[in-house]
Amino acid sequence: MENPLVQRMRPFGTTIFTTMSELAARTGAVNLGQGFPDTNPPAWIQEHVTDAMARGINQYPQLFGAPALREAIAEHQRRFYGLDVDPDREVLVTFGATDALASALSALVEPGDEVVVIEPAFDVYTAGITLAGGVQVGVPLRLPDLTLDEAALAAAITPRTRAILLNTPHNPTGKIFTREELAAIGALAVRHGIWILSDEVYEHLAFDAPHTPMASLAREIPGLDQWVLTISSAGKAFSVTGWKIGWIVGPAPAVRAAAQIKQFTSFTGGAPFQPAIAAALSQSDEAYAALNDGMRHRRDVLAEGLSAAGFGLVGGHATYFQVADAAPLGVTDAAQFCLEMPEKYGVVAIPVSAFCSDPDYARTLIRFAYCKQPSVLAEASARLAPLARLAPSAQARPAAAPAG
Ligand code: PMP
Ligand code: GLN
Repeated sequence: MENPLVQRMRPFGTTIFTTMSELAARTGAVNLGQGFPDTNPPAWIQEHVTDAMARGINQYPQLFGAPALREAIAEHQRRFYGLDVDPDREVLVTFGATDALASALSALVEPGDEVVVIEPAFDVYTAGITLAGGVQVGVPLRLPDLTLDEAALAAAITPRTRAILLNTPHNPTGKIFTREELAAIGALAVRHGIWILSDEVYEHLAFDAPHTPMASLAREIPGLDQWVLTISSAGKAFSVTGWKIGWIVGPAPAVRAAAQIKQFTSFTGGAPFQPAIAAALSQSDEAYAALNDGMRHRRDVLAEGLSAAGFGLVGGHATYFQVADAAPLGVTDAAQFCLEMPEKYGVVAIPVSAFCSDPDYARTLIRFAYCKQPSVLAEASARLAPLARLAPSAQARPAAAPAG
């Protein structure tokens, strides 16, 4: 049969994450491609789900989300960032950050509107903008230091710009946007009257600097609070990517607009997960710190393995991804190299070019996920070690700390 898919979605094909996970399953390679933890959530969080089911929390939650979860999200914003959020009007619970992004983009972007995206960018952004009928305008981070080119960002704004989409801490690079960079973005949004969608799903996985939420800049930039939608998700912080509980926090009219889309695309769901995530968000400071320490340790294990194999390291200050530069190994096309790596070296990873509208931007860069047991990361490092032969000088180098 002829492909029945609408024209505008045809270029997207199957996501790189699905393709690479299938390749891992087929070859038996260690899967450091798709980002999902290989550990279970803490037992006490799981028990909240079964308790909720037993208590009969199995039917549609309210459109905006269970009140207890909305209150826990508002309390989380106050506890960690000192932000004042009205749980009744400024919070919308979604099916993960993916649904939050799609609902917000469909609610705010008219066909033909431009959305400025800081690249590299998670593939969901481009697809969400396209589904809404919008046009993506990419602004690349500078390499290798991953700084924001503020002049390029300002130049990308046109009368058709409706929103700026950013992600901090950043997938795939592990960059943590600085206060100064966020202030520059915030000032542009207020000056031009455009939305900021700030995807902060890795907010609890910042290692080398604190995470600054975009919304906190509203203390310094008058009017900014009317323009920032913060998007987050429970998946990363509690190792529950398959539960798909996310949220939008922002000004009431924009949150209501996103809810108006969501009521027709998915309505509500995840009833017994919602009270469990409400409880999880209120977990102790020690539990948040343990998550952060554990992931930082995994970052260090993988970074050392990648360095020993001769890769250069880029970014890696946060999230659960480390970008490696394969140029020192003589690789000129990381996309091709990633297709060969499972067979040749038994490890799956994702080429960073999959996150960029300009495939030349990151030709030699590869993203490795390290949200895996340290023993799995050690195994991946051992499998990659023979690559060092391609870069004899690598053996003489000490294991580099993540740089840039
Ligand atoms: N944003 C970013 C930056 C991500 O990396 C991901 C996926 N892991 C998502 C959004 C999607 O989150 P969720 O699984 O909650 O839909
Ligand atoms: N966000 C995950 C990643 O970056 C993938 C999620 C997905 O498969 N869509 O690896």
